[in-house]
Order: sequence, then structure tokens, then C-alpha cells
Amino acid sequence: MDRMASFLRSLAVSSSVAALAGAGALAAKSLQARGEESVRPVLHGGRTPRILVAGGGYIGLYTATTLRKHLGRQDAEIAVVDPRPYMTYQPFLPEAAAGSIEPRHVVTSLRRELKGTSVLTGSITEIRHAERKAVIKPVNDDPAYEVTYDHLVVGLGSVARTLPIPGLAENAIGFKHIEEATALRNRVLNKLAEAASTWDAEKRRRMLTFVFVGGGFAGIEAIGEVEDMARTATKEYDSIDAEDLRFVIVEGAGRILPELGEELGGYAIEQLRERGVEIHLNTFLNSCVDGVVELSTGEKFEADTIVWTAGVKANPVLANTDLPLDARGRVRTNASLQVVNEDGTVVEGAWAAGDNAAVPDLTSSDPAATTAPTAQHAVRQGKQLGENLARVLHGEEPEEYRHENIGTVASLGLYKGVAQIMGVKFRGPLAWFMHRSYHVLAMPSFERKVRILADWTEALFFRRELVSLAALQNPRAAWEAAAASGSKPAAPGVAPAAAGAKIADKSDAAKVAEKK
Ligand SMILES: Cc1cc2nc3c(=O)[nH]c(=O)nc-3n(C[C@H](O)[C@H](O)[C@H](O)COP(=O)(O)OP(=O)(O)OC[C@H]3O[C@@H](n4cnc5c(N)ncnc54)[C@H](O)[C@@H]3O)c2cc1C
Repeated sequence: MDRMASFLRSLAVSSSVAALAGAGALAAKSLQARGEESVRPVLHGGRTPRILVAGGGYIGLYTATTLRKHLGRQDAEIAVVDPRPYMTYQPFLPEAAAGSIEPRHVVTSLRRELKGTSVLTGSITEIRHAERKAVIKPVNDDPAYEVTYDHLVVGLGSVARTLPIPGLAENAIGFKHIEEATALRNRVLNKLAEAASTWDAEKRRRMLTFVFVGGGFAGIEAIGEVEDMARTATKEYDSIDAEDLRFVIVEGAGRILPELGEELGGYAIEQLRERGVEIHLNTFLNSCVDGVVELSTGEKFEADTIVWTAGVKANPVLANTDLPLDARGRVRTNASLQVVNEDGTVVEGAWAAGDNAAVPDLTSSDPAATTAPTAQHAVRQGKQLGENLARVLHGEEPEEYRHENIGTVASLGLYKGVAQIMGVKFRGPLAWFMHRSYHVLAMPSFERKVRILADWTEALFFRRELVSLAALQNPRAAWEAAAASGSKPAAPGVAPAAAGAKIADKSDAAKVAEKK
């Protein structure tokens, strides 16, 4: 707390110290403009350099950890800014959505991991690198404030790449954050409970229809895990059978999991179709106004749950910076992860990596190729960026980032998976085991690894946890109802059957009513 307060005091532009920092950066610029040697702050060469790390995801966490390994507190002040106080290990989101892993265990606390580093909770809304200034908006209603820095690390990641499809923004949910994975789990389980309690057959069908748009890793792993969970959950209902569930994948391309090649992608299609998952290839979502899904094939049906996993794009806040961006809105870098202008000249004091950066892929024969937006790259780039920035501060040359993809693993649900490691293809329980082993080893922090292993071990002895905490989305509802109960009488409910709806042939509500 004290450390953060002192860092904020030293950074806030309103303070005299920060004004000095800004003046230092401007002095550096004007010296460069005159063609003299840069006054880029180097270790032991004057005041302590300040490093601002934008984003506390893979890049933020690994860069800051690596920097601290090489730089003591007297060597550099480091601050990481993120609206969330934790880093999310996204490859485990599908398992968190399925309840195989406790949601808290797939995130890791930035404060606990980043000793000796200030963690600021807020969103960067603007970067004026020429002035070495960034604007941070706190997560509450407090006004935004400016900070100054000497070196900037941009690790703001990506956001869901949405399209202007009617009804999409209002009715769909993304699958990039732990909050979304948890909400999806609660929603699916809740829809089962609601479907079992409704009289209306059409509503019931709509409640039990789950649409996933996008057949890449996120979409396929999510549907694989969630369908598995939902099928297991039906065993707890007399009135819902596994066949009553409708899981639908909508994919614009002619195949799914393209990174795994045609053979394994084909196997995944077969696997999912055997389980009753509908897969619409070469198909687009045209509209989903009020949950009425319209596909490019002309098919139309209703669904209460629509999950959008059709790709990502660089964080749009980058447009609010003076950093050089490529045509896809990513920060341009060289292979040393330094930000560069279009002509390749280095932008002093700016670094970027991960999903929000166009990092040259030195392993490709195509000179224009950039590294894919994967955790595999982000972990390694974060470490390399930390090493390189420390090297530069020590007056040494940075090293180039190069990483050959070692393979790809994907889960399709409990004991089901596909993998390709160094060209060798695996499928079934072995691939699933490889998926789990790889990711638990890659999960940051020993403590989190142990907690996840404990979750999996526990699952061997107890039945799957299938409680929905959907009410979490509105925690004040009970309180508001209690407060209101004193002032007005409760309105009598009207069963949909009485309102003339088509009655579901199978429904717990109908059964209970019959027994009366
Ligand atoms: C469901 C899913 C499954 C995946 N599975 C795999 C897999 O199996 N294998 C694999 O290699 N990759 C996988 N990925 C991709 C991988 O997670 C990403 O490539 C990786 O997270 C990129 O790291 P990053 O640091 O660039 O971005 P992130 O890890 O997304 O970090 C960006 C950070 O920036 C923060 N941020 C955003 N806006 C602001 C702002 N304005 N100010 C401050 N901070 C901000 C965010 O809160 C976040 O913490 C998966 C992704 C998803 C969504």
C-alpha cells in the first residue's frame, strides 16, 4: 500500500516530481532532435528509470517478473496497470466453465506474484508516448489521472472481434474472461433448471439451445467442455434427457481447429457430431435479434444462449495512442520487441509484445509473417521483453525473439482431446491428458498448479459440481425484494399454461401440477 502510494505520488503528473519526469523525457526528446546522444535513462546514470507496463496479462506478468529478476528496486521503478487485479490463464477457461477447475484457480494475483512492483487497478485510456505520458481511468468513478514514465511496455492484449450483426451485441456473450466463463456455466445450468420448470414447450426448446459462433480453439474447447457438463447435469433431471439439449457450432470456414490440420480437425468434428453437437460449416450468423438465430443457410431457430468466439482483434485503446500501428491495429515491433515506425526505426523507450503486437516471426519463410496470438508466444515474448529491457538499461544490445511452434493441444471435454506435437498426431484420452499436463505446467505460480491438481484429484472421488450460482449476477435482488415487501403486496403469478402457451410434454412443473 505504502509502495503504491509512493509510486503514485512519484508518477502523478500533478506532483512536482512527475513534472520533473515529464521534463526529463522532453529533454531527452529535444536532445535527440538535435542529433545528440540519447539521454535514455540507464542504470546508475542518474535518477531511477520508471517503467510503465500497460496490461497485467501474460506480457505484463512475465515482463515485470523478469525485469525484477534483473533489476533491484533501486535500479528501476516498475508499475503494472490493469483493470483486473489478476492475470487470467485463458486456456483453462473452458474447464472453469465446465466446473472441472474452480474459477479462482485459473487466475493469479498480480500483487502476490509481482513483489517489488506497484500494481495500479485501472484502465489505460490514452498514451502520449512523445510526452512519455499515459492516462489511467480508475475502475470506480474517480477521475482519470496522468502518469509519466521513461519506458513503456504495451501488453494490452486483444478483445473479441465482433461484427455488426443485428442482435449480437445485445444477446451474445464473449469467452475471453473468467467472468464470462463463470457466467456461461451459471447460465447453462440455470437454463436447465428453468427448462425443467416451464410449461411452455417452445420456451423449453429455446432454453435448451446453446449456440457457439466460431470453430477455433476457444469455441471448440468451450463447447466440448460445456456440452459435457450439461449432458452430465441432465442426469439430475427426470424431465430432461441428454437428447433434449441442442448444442450448435456456427463456423464460417469449411473446417474447425484449423491450427491442427484437416485430419485432427475432421476427427474433432466426428467426435462432437457423435455426441449430438450440430456443426454448421461454411455458415455465418446473419442475425440474432431477441434470440432468434438466423443463419446464412436460411435456417432459423431460437436460442437463449449465444456465445461469440469468432476471433480476436488488437485492443482498440491502441488507436488512442501515438504508437505506430499496422493495418490490423497492432503495435509494430521489431524482432527485439522494440516498437518501430513503418520504416523500421526504433521508437525509443517503447516496447510491445503478445496479442496486441505485430512481432515478426523469424521462423517463417515469409518476411511479412508475424507471430500468432497465442499464450505459447506471449509467455516467451514477455520473458524476452523483460530480458531485453533490462539489457538496454544495462547498456547492452537486446536479443531477437524467435520461437518455433512445438505443437498444439486441445480438449474436447472430459477424457477427450486432440493434439499435434512436433508433427505427431494424438487423439482421445492420451491427447486430453497431454492437454492437461501441458497447461498445468504452463500455469503461472506453483500454488496455482497445486490447486488445479487438487481440483482434478477431488473430481476423481466426487461427482461433478453442478450448482448454478446465476443469482450472483444480481446479488442485491433478495435485499431489494425484502426492502420492497414492506411497502406493497406481492403480485399473484400466472402460469404460462393458463395464458394459452403450448404445454411442454416433459416438465417438472407440469408433473408437480398433475399430482395436485
Ligand atoms: C478461451 C481461450 C482459450 C485459449 N487457449 C489457448 C491455448 O490453448 N493455447 C494458447 O497458446 N493460447 C490460447 N489462447 C490465447 C492466449 O490466451 C492469448 O494469446 C494470450 O492471453 C495473450 O497474452 P497477452 O498478454 O497479449 O494478452 P492478455 O493475456 O489478454 O492480457 C491483456 C491484459 O490487458 C488488460 N487490459 C485490457 N485493456 C486494458 C486497458 N485499457 N488498460 C490496462 N489494461 C488493460 C487485460 O485486463 C489483460 O489482463 C486462448 C485464448 C482464449 C480467449
